[in-house]
Amino acid sequence: MNAIDIMHPEDAKAIQVVKKIKSLNPLVRKIMEYGYEKKKHGINLGNYLKVNAHNLPKVYRAFKDVVRKVGIKEPELYIYQDANPNAFTYGETNTFICVSSAVVDKFSVEEFQCVIAHECGHLLCKHSFYTNLLDILVEMKDALGIFTWLAFEPLYLALQYWNRKSELSADRCAAAVTGESVFQSVMLKTSSGVDAQIVSRSPLLDQAEEYHKFKNASWWNRIQQNCQEAVCSHPYRCERAWEIDRWKNSWQYRKLRSIIMYETSYF
Ligand SMILES: [Zn+2]
Repeated sequence: MNAIDIMHPEDAKAIQVVKKIKSLNPLVRKIMEYGYEKKKHGINLGNYLKVNAHNLPKVYRAFKDVVRKVGIKEPELYIYQDANPNAFTYGETNTFICVSSAVVDKFSVEEFQCVIAHECGHLLCKHSFYTNLLDILVEMKDALGIFTWLAFEPLYLALQYWNRKSELSADRCAAAVTGESVFQSVMLKTSSGVDAQIVSRSPLLDQAEEYHKFKNASWWNRIQQNCQEAVCSHPYRCERAWEIDRWKNSWQYRKLRSIIMYETSYF
């Protein structure tokens, strides 16, 4: 799989804006390689379970299957204890994925793979570099003081905007690997916590339409909702469900699905 196959156009557009700040790139890369990557590697090894073929063979097999389909260098996989289903990834040189125990315990194998494929999508698109820039800014916030911080606020908001769009690319990777219906099931589970069966159409799709109507009903609603969304790291789940529902009709999605289905039957 290539990043271009799954990259949401708004993610690609937003990355171009951030790329213009060229002077920051070498510095951020070094901070990433020698600072955050090593620090997080130590935290993972120190606190979480590193999954391998011996300690959790089924989980590891399901994970490796996704990594092979996405076609990235195998990241390390860790499980941490948390009743909330969640996952995150990081790194460019030494990459890893951390997934919460709830995803392993409460999700089906396909849903677990969907979560892993989402994280692999971030790695494929090399999102960590820009996430790292955002992390640095957030850490600088307290040290800078409010007035200096105000100078960085536009960059911070631009990065948060990009961050939300990057989630849509990672969602496309998840849907391409496991299929649209598995993706919708994961969205429903993570938004409601309920193990609801989707018979034909996810209720989040109707909710997305209701949300769009509500948001566009007045300028006040639009401003209020846009301000709310501007500080969120992820798009709303009904939006994510809606985006994938639209993308499932594209030739890119159909092409990726047919390649993956062919490979699955071949292996
Ligand atoms: Zn993500």
